[in-house]
Amino acid sequence: MKICFASHNKNKVKEMNGIMPDGISIVGLAELGLTEDIAETGSTLEENATIKSSYVYQKHKSPVFADDSGLIVHALNGDPGVYSARYAGEERDDQKNMDLLLKNLAGKNDRSAEFRTVISYIDEAGEIHEFTGKIEGKIIEEKRGNNGFGYDPIFQPNGFDETFAELSSDIKNRISHRAKAVQKFLEYLHQINE
Ligand code: IMP
Repeated sequence: MKICFASHNKNKVKEMNGIMPDGISIVGLAELGLTEDIAETGSTLEENATIKSSYVYQKHKSPVFADDSGLIVHALNGDPGVYSARYAGEERDDQKNMDLLLKNLAGKNDRSAEFRTVISYIDEAGEIHEFTGKIEGKIIEEKRGNNGFGYDPIFQPNGFDETFAELSSDIKNRISHRAKAVQKFLEYLHQINE
């Protein structure tokens, strides 16, 4: 069975291929000849993931999934959320995004936050299935660590003394929002392939 991953990122596609059960192969947008950017115009992660999966399904009428992730900071009413990548502007600069977040959180007592990933899968029949992964933690006062990407240096998951950027990629990939969403998706695929 072939499933399309609605992503232009070849590394993400390759990584996903490596963790799929036997009998399922993943193809990226490039392999389907889709080069255009799919506009992420939704106001929630769920909407954006489904916009991407639906766009590809309309064109190919075959199984496809898309993911969307973001950081939700409770004291900021859920920001940056769906705007995580471009919180401080269209240039998508991780340092500027973190600086703006730290500035907006200055003086607030509640620094709790969570990362969330939503996977939207559309099966052969056109039915939409959603899988969500979350990890809760807090935003620390100053950046720490060099691993990872995005907001990793300022996010400390509950139960750890290190930020995501100080943890090894092995550990992060075991506990992360993305890992949990993918795990749920894999369990579902295993079930329907039994
Ligand atoms: P995407 O949907 O996976 O592209 O994630 C959107 C944005 O959310 C990224 O550009 C990052 O700013 C942020 N983000 C998502 N996942 C992570 C993570 O694991 N660590 C740090 N930042 C993340």
